[in-house]
Amino acid sequence: MEAFGTITGKLLGTIRGWIVIAFLIMSAITGALGLSAASSIRRTDELVSQTFDRSLMSINYARAAATDFAGMRTAEARRWMVTDPAARTVLDERLVGLQRLLAEDLEIAVERAQSERATRAAQAAEQAVAAWTEARARITDLGRDEAAYADLDRHAAVAEENFDLFINYTAGDGFIYRQQARAIVARETRFNLLGTLIAVLLSGTVAFCLARRIMNPLADASRAATRIAGGDLSGTMPAGGGDEVGTLLAAMGTMRDNIRHAMEKEVAQRISAEDQLADALETSREGIVVVDEAGRITLTNSQAEDYLGLSSGTLAPGSTIARLAEGHGGDSGTLAQALLSATDERSELRLADGRWLRISRSDTRTGGFIAVCSDITLLKIQEATLQSTNLRLDTALDNMSQGLCLFDSTGRLTVVNRRYCEIFGLASAQLPFGLTYHEVASLSAARCDYPEPAPDAFVRAQAETASGGTVDADFLHLGDGRVVAVSHKAVRGGGLVATYEDVTERREADARIAFMARHDVLTGLPNRAMFGERIEEAVAHLGAGSPFSVLCLDLDRFKEVNDTLGHPVGDALLRAVADRLRACVRDVDTVARLGGDEFAIILSETGRPQEAAVLARRIVEVVSAPYEIDGHRASVGVSIGVCFAPGDGTTCDKLLKNADVALYRAKADGRGTWRFFEAEMDISLQARRALELDLREALAREEFELHYQPIYDFRARRVGGFEALVRWRHPMRGLVPPGDFIAVAEEIGLIVPLGAWCLTTACTEAMRWPDGIKVAVNVSAVQFRDEVIVEAVRQALSASRLPPGRLELEITESVLLKDNLATLATLYALRRLGVRIAMDDFGTGYSSLSYLRSFPFDKIKIDQSFVRDITNKTDSGLIVRAVIGLGLSLGMRTTAEGIETEAQFERLRSEGCDEGQGYYFARPSPASEVPKAIERWSRGTGETGRAVA
Ligand code: C2E
Ligand code: MG
Ligand code: MG
Repeated sequence: MEAFGTITGKLLGTIRGWIVIAFLIMSAITGALGLSAASSIRRTDELVSQTFDRSLMSINYARAAATDFAGMRTAEARRWMVTDPAARTVLDERLVGLQRLLAEDLEIAVERAQSERATRAAQAAEQAVAAWTEARARITDLGRDEAAYADLDRHAAVAEENFDLFINYTAGDGFIYRQQARAIVARETRFNLLGTLIAVLLSGTVAFCLARRIMNPLADASRAATRIAGGDLSGTMPAGGGDEVGTLLAAMGTMRDNIRHAMEKEVAQRISAEDQLADALETSREGIVVVDEAGRITLTNSQAEDYLGLSSGTLAPGSTIARLAEGHGGDSGTLAQALLSATDERSELRLADGRWLRISRSDTRTGGFIAVCSDITLLKIQEATLQSTNLRLDTALDNMSQGLCLFDSTGRLTVVNRRYCEIFGLASAQLPFGLTYHEVASLSAARCDYPEPAPDAFVRAQAETASGGTVDADFLHLGDGRVVAVSHKAVRGGGLVATYEDVTERREADARIAFMARHDVLTGLPNRAMFGERIEEAVAHLGAGSPFSVLCLDLDRFKEVNDTLGHPVGDALLRAVADRLRACVRDVDTVARLGGDEFAIILSETGRPQEAAVLARRIVEVVSAPYEIDGHRASVGVSIGVCFAPGDGTTCDKLLKNADVALYRAKADGRGTWRFFEAEMDISLQARRALELDLREALAREEFELHYQPIYDFRARRVGGFEALVRWRHPMRGLVPPGDFIAVAEEIGLIVPLGAWCLTTACTEAMRWPDGIKVAVNVSAVQFRDEVIVEAVRQALSASRLPPGRLELEITESVLLKDNLATLATLYALRRLGVRIAMDDFGTGYSSLSYLRSFPFDKIKIDQSFVRDITNKTDSGLIVRAVIGLGLSLGMRTTAEGIETEAQFERLRSEGCDEGQGYYFARPSPASEVPKAIERWSRGTGETGRAVA
């Protein structure tokens, strides 16, 4: 049902559907009419056949039977019927026919609703015939039974009568049938006429509806299509239904919209293109004038007027160029003329205001032309700048130290500078632009005769490099010995730049530098770096069973030679030592200078101590022999530390360190000797390192303290001052005397802050003492470096506010061993601060007297070694006397150190010594003991003093 509804819905929605429906309806009507007519005709036929076939036949039979029965009522008939067997047979046959007819009639009556009266008459006739037949059967002999004949006749009469009735009734029925047939025909005729009429009306209606449904919209569509074809896209499209015409109209509407949209788009694009062209023209920096074949301006922009110096609107479309040229003078006229005359090539004009214009003109296809004016002032300026830049570049190229060749992307020479020609001895005329790389290289190679590589091969190789565009660097070894570095670099955009640099000198310098990097410049010996490499090489050969030994050498007293005879002599001495060392060893051995007066030797394949000892002894002898240098006689000693590989180490660091440890021991053992490395040496060195470590932290931990020892003034007979002597109160080592750590403190530089601390502490302490009592502070030679001592003294004085005259600095001769001039300057700077300066331990150095001459010391402290023996029968007494006399004559006070006995005390006093110091008066003791010492050794007390325990 649903499917039927869907199909119907679809059919009703389309014209095709309507046509199908109309066809079905018409077919139904026509079919119904046909069927009805056929049925009526059949009925009529039946009625006619009943009327004519049945009724008339029945009548005929009935009439014949009635006649027969009427005839049989004669005597003749009776005899004939009885006697004649043939007649009897005919009669019997007739009777059978009659009975069958009557039976059929009855059937018809039942089937066809034959009228009841005819049926009844037929039944009565049948019964009468049956009765007659029975009666006739009973008659067998003529004339025998008249009654039987009479009965027979009666039955015959009844039969006849009923046959007549039957005939009459049947005739009546036939009439009725005919009448019925007529009525049916009349009814069918009407019915068919009506049906046909309805069918015609219906057809008309369908045709009308279809026309309405199809033709009107089609007409509308065709009108709309005509309008669209005529270009009218504005009108409204007739609305269609849901059918095919509706679809057609809708499609036409869409088509019309698309056409309109496309046209609008095209128009918009055209308008925008025109606008853009106009904008482009207006915003263009070029002035543009389009002229048609007749010389009329068709298109222009305001820049054109501006460039031509015309007022706005002068170049309106339609005006002619020729008139413009006539009508304007000055720049404008010239420009218009230029426009007219400009050929396809560009022409350039300079305006009165300095601007430059370029006018280029190109012909149009229609015979006109387009002139484009550009302001090229900036371009001109750039051109000029470029020219001057090029000039500068040329100058730079010609003056650069490198030769240069530039090849373009096709490999042709485009730039070559003067230096290139100089390097290769070529005239610039020999190198015209356009030569190939190969030609240039061949020319240079031929001229300079490169021995290596072969010129041809080289040129080929370079050409290949060049074509590959890679960066390359190579060296040309020219025939005359010069070396030229060549490098190639591909240029962006193709091409190649080749630079040539004469690196002969640089290579020599490089070689020198390389040599210097691995050799000592002064002696030409391998330096530490190269020595390290040699050790590594030797270590590498250890596996092959080649033990070796390493010797570390340190010259003794070299510093003195250097300081006394000067650096040039020191240098010459080092060279001489190097020569002697070289002479001592074999070619396979290595002698190196590690720095200063340190040397080292690798003795190859020397694994036994005896061999090394022999060489060490020889070295000590040879090096210690005196040297004659520039008229000076100098002598140095040498200490040697020896170690063996692989026993004492297999790395450069380890071997050098162990040889150094052995050297340290050699030096400690009195110098001028050699020592083999032993593990214990390392242990004692480790102990020293531990001391160093502790010392570095001692100052921060405030482990230092100052003890004070009184200095007795012989003449004033009282304590004139105290010497501050530092001590290190170590938590484990106890109270460490200065002799055990000052040297280490000097080595590690701690002496500078420690010395400053001593100065400040001593000055501050002295401020607590009675006026006039001085404080003496020992100063190390290290503190004299960089003049740090001056600043330290200044700060100590200002911090303590001690009058400078109460401070005495004790320096040893080692201070004066240093750079004399600088040391003296420092001493004078100290003197200017107002402090006093004493020479300590006088007489222990080997040129003490010369030092006395170099600086006016305030005091000489006679070393205790002289004082110790003063009372014995030695020269010490004489020396002390001499020193006291010296001090007297130089105006320097003298202080005797180390007075332990009264005899010494008395002797010194009698010799005229100014001051004395020693255990006889007091041992160095903490600051708290100072007042006691002052009191004990003041005038009148302790005069007969004994050594204070
Ligand atoms: P120095 O300046 O010659 O000091 C005198 C040394 O002789 C002191 O030894 C002192 O204790 C000792 N001494 C004094 N009287 C006698 C005596 O009658 N008999 C003997 N046998 N010795 C006596 P100390 O304190 O061990 O100092 C040794 C050296 O250490 C000093 O010799 C000085 O050169 C240095 N020193 C001490 N303190 C400092 C300091 O603060 N700075 C510097 N740079 N060196 C100092
Ligand atoms: Mg001293
Ligand atoms: Mg001394």
